[in-house]
Amino acid sequence: MADLRTEIEQLKKERDAVILAHTYQPAEVQDCADFVGDSYGLSLEASRTAASLIIFCGVRFMAETAAILNTSRTVILPEPLAGCPMAEMITAQELGQLKNRYPDHAVMCYVNSTAEIKAMADVCCTSSNALSIAKKLPPERGIIFVPDRHLGSWIEEQTGRQMVLWDGFCPTHLRITPEMITTARSEHPAAEVLIHPEAPHECRVLADAVLSTGGMSTYVEKSDNDEFIIATEIGLVHTLKTNTPGKKYYPVSDEVTCPNMKRGSLVSVRNALAGTGGEKVVVDSEVAAKALRSLERMLALSEDGK
Ligand code: SF4
Repeated sequence: MADLRTEIEQLKKERDAVILAHTYQPAEVQDCADFVGDSYGLSLEASRTAASLIIFCGVRFMAETAAILNTSRTVILPEPLAGCPMAEMITAQELGQLKNRYPDHAVMCYVNSTAEIKAMADVCCTSSNALSIAKKLPPERGIIFVPDRHLGSWIEEQTGRQMVLWDGFCPTHLRITPEMITTARSEHPAAEVLIHPEAPHECRVLADAVLSTGGMSTYVEKSDNDEFIIATEIGLVHTLKTNTPGKKYYPVSDEVTCPNMKRGSLVSVRNALAGTGGEKVVVDSEVAAKALRSLERMLALSEDGK
């Protein structure tokens, strides 16, 4: 593994590349990345980077977002088969029908969506800025929210906004059950439970805080507490241990893993850098221009960079 790491470092310099990795990626991939973060942080890094080549260790919609935000850079997805089932749960035709049914509603779209869906939305959001963006949309308009019904219902609960929710979901966060949370609490009574808003309502109400993965990172760093039960994809536990060592993190269950995120490996990162693997992500220019408007509105409406 040390040899691979050395090779990756050399290739990175030769190709003027930056490696971006999502917090759900395997530990070895996170450890070789220049930046590890959630969708929002990765979007910002992708839009700002001066590197010529972006190696995006995540799933397809994330690499597409990077390509849309920074058209002058080449974006490579090391694992071309890494998709996101939630992003595939709504088609452009289905969103078109929804827009026809609610013509006065604003369309807010979770960044976990295809470029075509972003292109049809008024604004995008991530789980870290969803609340502040929903609050800023014109109060007289209803909101169509796609594709995640769980994140959507959390926004409804927190903001009181009237929303039409699409029936999508994250299969990984759907693995979290109320029983997992009560069991973890009984095993670690001093720990606070942090849960992601993609988890179902019946689980969210059992947690101490509902936070994006970026929000969880900030929370544990600032908290006086030393123990946390982490109810999101298990990869975040490695990120927290790296960024805020000395505290204890318990995954709510080892079953909460995303098979698409876990496709990532050092070998595929090396191959992407060497030009022998991975896929250059290309988004149709007309779709990309429209999707960029929704992403830029998100960045403009985000509070304090969140
Ligand atoms: S964790 Fe869920 S939302 Fe994230 S990539 Fe995996 S399936 Fe998609």
